[in-house]
Amino acid sequence: MSECTIKSTMIKNRGICFVLSAPSGAGKSTIANALRASQPNLFPSISVTTRSPRPSEQHGIHYHFISQEEFKKQVKKGELLEWATVFGQGYGTPKAPVEKLLSEGKDLIFDIDWQGHQQIRKSLSQNIVSIFILPPSLKELENRLKQRDSDHPNEIKNRMNKALDEIEHWDEFDYVVINYQLEKAVQEIESILISERLKTNRQIFLPSFIEKFYIEK
Ligand code: ADP
Ligand code: 5GP
Repeated sequence: MSECTIKSTMIKNRGICFVLSAPSGAGKSTIANALRASQPNLFPSISVTTRSPRPSEQHGIHYHFISQEEFKKQVKKGELLEWATVFGQGYGTPKAPVEKLLSEGKDLIFDIDWQGHQQIRKSLSQNIVSIFILPPSLKELENRLKQRDSDHPNEIKNRMNKALDEIEHWDEFDYVVINYQLEKAVQEIESILISERLKTNRQIFLPSFIEKFYIEK
């Protein structure tokens, strides 16, 4: 893992890494998709994974689906910003696209687990804004996993067994949103995005903007 270098003199704003984490089935991907539709300046970080694609998923859009061998190679070569084993499969964030987008002052959205959040918080601390999404209850979480109809019943059981391991990390995040109603959760996260973009230290064009007032005077 390495620090990303940010050419602050060339860009308007410091790019933000919005991290969404949640127990599987809480609605993270659905929320991330809605945000991407409403926020065209938010770029998804596309992870690599060794798990098989779901019927609705496309290589290069939802994930880069790779073999165990390729995953191990990428880890060894230091090509991943963070990586973790989740539900027995390898998942990781390719480093190069994140560094490129941040160096251009762009904002990214990450759908990663608590282990990934802990790792990128160390390497990109200034850029991270993290949001933990909770389901209304464990029963509703199970309903959502079943209704998604994308995982084998054994896999759903496995994910339900691990739900509390993920939830246990809720207080490591900057924000917590309870996803009762999708539209409301999306709205709440949009407000976080807007407020975080307005933080004084992120608007790195401000000193030169303010300098102009003195020239005008
Ligand atoms: P995750 O990415 O966290 O694993 P998904 O986004 O795939 O979860 O959501 C799991 C299922 O729950 C999907 O079928 C999705 O349509 C549904 N869902 C998401 N948010 C809500 C909500 N607020 N109310 C009801 N169903 C929801
Ligand atoms: P799924 O298989 O449902 O797409 O994802 C399973 C879990 O892996 C989710 O908690 C998701 O956030 C996490 N995940 C997806 N991509 C990454 C990644 O690149 N790194 C880490 N650490 N976790 C990831």
